[in-house]
Amino acid sequence: MRILLKNALLLCDVRSEPKVSDLLVEDGKVAGIGNFTEATAEEIHDMSEKLVMPGFVNAHTHAAMTLMRGLAEDLRLKEWLTERVFPIEERLSEEDVYYGTMLAQLEMARRGIVAYADMYFHCGAVARAALDFGMKVLITRGLVDVDSDRGRLKQNVDYYERWNGKDGLVKVGFGPHAPYSCSRAYIDEIAKTALKLNAPVMIHLYETADEKYELKNLLSTSLKDCKVLFAHCVHVKDEDVSLLARENFFVVHNPTSNLKLGSGIAPVQKMIEKGVQVCLGTDGAASNNTLDVWHEMRLAALLQKVSDPRNISIQQALSMAIEQGAKAVGLTSGKIEVGADADLIVVDLKKPWYVPRDRIKNHIVHSGNSLDVFATMIKGRWVYYDGEYPTIDAEYVFEKCEEAIGRLTGTTD
Ligand SMILES: [Zn+2]
Repeated sequence: MRILLKNALLLCDVRSEPKVSDLLVEDGKVAGIGNFTEATAEEIHDMSEKLVMPGFVNAHTHAAMTLMRGLAEDLRLKEWLTERVFPIEERLSEEDVYYGTMLAQLEMARRGIVAYADMYFHCGAVARAALDFGMKVLITRGLVDVDSDRGRLKQNVDYYERWNGKDGLVKVGFGPHAPYSCSRAYIDEIAKTALKLNAPVMIHLYETADEKYELKNLLSTSLKDCKVLFAHCVHVKDEDVSLLARENFFVVHNPTSNLKLGSGIAPVQKMIEKGVQVCLGTDGAASNNTLDVWHEMRLAALLQKVSDPRNISIQQALSMAIEQGAKAVGLTSGKIEVGADADLIVVDLKKPWYVPRDRIKNHIVHSGNSLDVFATMIKGRWVYYDGEYPTIDAEYVFEKCEEAIGRLTGTTD
């Protein structure tokens, strides 16, 4: 199947400038950039007054927590987790996780996200939801160090064997929850397993000021040799910043969730200056409450500008949201180039906030918003197009989610 996008304003990567061009997609990949006649394709879309650019990457979330959106407001992390989130999570079925994840994907596709990194449980349901919808996901099974949990590392390995690499959409990594919920020995065991499989690891790090452990102790385990996505890093000390500046490490900044739970503001500018690779995440919808990397990008820039407006350039903001996220999750290139998977979004520029049109990248960061996304394509397949979700019955997903949350909160049987 050949799909031709005609007359688009094309932004191939976050470093280049947009130019008017046609784009040819074939068998899930970008097949050509330039001028093409309509005879070259079976499906043709006029993209005049539309920007085509690489899609956003959500490098840290707990997708199925969409079921808990709006359920626990105005609480600190500890109460939020123990009083509201855990009691519901204990009762989530595999089917609940499937529909909660699907709901998250509907939202993410609508907001221009093409790939995400997830930490949750019932991961088979997450994999099935991603494959059914057609979205790219790095799955990690959340692991905590209690006796009842010991079998879960084996379960994580089973998920890897069953789902890793499936349809070019799913990757499986390992998810030790945090240094305060996993012993060093357990983290070492998980890291050794991940290294053997060449799989990435995702872990929460220094989310709140209460967390007392030493990063250098953590990095005396095999974790230092893994590809690691460290979520949050709000309360990192100066010496930690230099420890995080490694090619195999990524910091995932979740600004909305950190603000809403009163956790603080991560020193993103300092980390970038010291060579740390920073990307963006939304965290779960119970603490955000939207899954909107476009929004996180602007917020991340503004939070660092509070002390110096030269902090976080347009380039850096876009790089965090797209390029670094793509590197961290490892499923998409973050670029539109011949031979790469066609993971892209179409932005409707026919809005007052995109005029004048000659500074589009600035407008994307500081003026536009994710609801300007007109279409989202993943691996050459439209998963959102002008109000429609071609791969899934969205209304049915909404119904199933309402049903699940009614049952889980006891408002319905
Ligand atoms: Zn998290």
